[in-house]
Amino acid sequence: MSEISNQEWIDKVSIIYCQTKETVAQEAAGVGCRMATITCPCGRKRAMVKMYQCLYCKIWMCDPCAEAHFGQTVAEYREEHPVGA
Ligand SMILES: [Zn+2]
Ligand SMILES: [Zn+2]
Repeated sequence: MSEISNQEWIDKVSIIYCQTKETVAQEAAGVGCRMATITCPCGRKRAMVKMYQCLYCKIWMCDPCAEAHFGQTVAEYREEHPVGA
């Protein structure tokens, strides 16, 4: 029934687990939201405020990974949905 394999599920769950652990540890250390960092599944570590969380997977991603994950680049989206006139 599921579109993704068990292994993919395990990977996803472990990514979310690691990211949650990362944020919880920083919170416990008193690091503010604006200063907290999070590691993208690709290995890039960035400020949390510069990361994007998928509504469905709950995984935090950096720009290029988010574009790939959401299936469209920001440039492509802007072309399809121009801002203003
Ligand atoms: Zn997703
Ligand atoms: Zn990434």
